[in-house]
Amino acid sequence: MLQDYLIPETVEQALSHLQGGKGRARVVAGGTDLLLDLANGKKEAGVLVDLTRIPGLQEITLEDDLIRLGAAVTHNQVAKSKLIQEKASVLARAARSVGSLQIRNTATVVGNVVNAQPAADAAVALVALGAVAEVVSPSGKEYIPVEKLYAGVGKSVLDSTSQIVTRIQFPALLKNQGSAYERLEQRKALALPMLNVAVVVSLADNRFQWARIVMAPVGPGPVRATEAEAILTGADVSLGNIENAAAAARAQANPRSSALRGSREYRLEVLPVLVRRALEAAVVRAGGNC
Ligand SMILES: Cc1cc2nc3c(=O)[nH]c(=O)nc-3n(C[C@H](O)[C@H](O)[C@H](O)COP(=O)(O)OP(=O)(O)OC[C@H]3O[C@@H](n4cnc5c(N)ncnc54)[C@H](O)[C@@H]3O)c2cc1C
Repeated sequence: MLQDYLIPETVEQALSHLQGGKGRARVVAGGTDLLLDLANGKKEAGVLVDLTRIPGLQEITLEDDLIRLGAAVTHNQVAKSKLIQEKASVLARAARSVGSLQIRNTATVVGNVVNAQPAADAAVALVALGAVAEVVSPSGKEYIPVEKLYAGVGKSVLDSTSQIVTRIQFPALLKNQGSAYERLEQRKALALPMLNVAVVVSLADNRFQWARIVMAPVGPGPVRATEAEAILTGADVSLGNIENAAAAARAQANPRSSALRGSREYRLEVLPVLVRRALEAAVVRAGGNC
């Protein structure tokens, strides 16, 4: 049963509260996932340690072409940030599609990642951006790629009773790079994604230098379409190559039939369409021409 709610003023204080809780104290940010999980018994905590008032963790910064989001940054902040719109538009678009305005005002991007749902909108975009989490614990600081944080559906490799993600960072997109986000959903408000696709491409002389293509929920976490990425690396920007990549993404996807998200067959039909659309949009934003 919940006995205490602590509001530390520094990361060190937060770590010390977690240590004092000996596995019974847990990090809370927006609480939009955690409070439901506590109420329905999926998770347990005696003490919650709230990170949202720690100075600096509410900030989005750009330094040396690296964008950093603090652990208290909300989806709405990200969606409205000019910096994110200009230098990582895939994330602005993903954040804008989350839940309702109330959820976006409260739910943090870091919480979206740590909660580890395969199709968590911001997390899918962050994997496409090659984002890395800064994780602190009593043994020190480490940096872990967001795509490596998944241990299974709804399971993170992180232990939120002893480890804190303080920030997430990723390179700002350059002029020759573009990104896009596509989401299949049932209705406009409060709809969980049936499929989502995030892509980032880097072009030179109308060729793909590289592409990162992330699709969900078609596996236990956001899934890199590695075959499709390999097809595009070094290839000309052309509709044919994009179609081939979309077909390869479909071949690699393994969605389950779900009452909430639609049948496997339907989603396998739609997935290549989303991949194609996202690639075409990202190419245009990177200054390319199909
Ligand atoms: C009505 C509703 C609609 C929603 N719609 C969507 C949607 O469309 N798309 C979508 O992707 N999600 C959606 N969500 C899910 C949810 O809002 C997000 O996953 C949210 O981003 C979680 O962030 P939070 O700050 O609320 O995390 P919390 O609930 O505070 O925490 C979630 C988990 O992460 C841990 N944690 C949080 N921050 C840290 C940290 N810094 N370090 C270590 N551990 C941490 C907590 O201990 C907990 O286990 C919806 C939720 C609701 C209730």
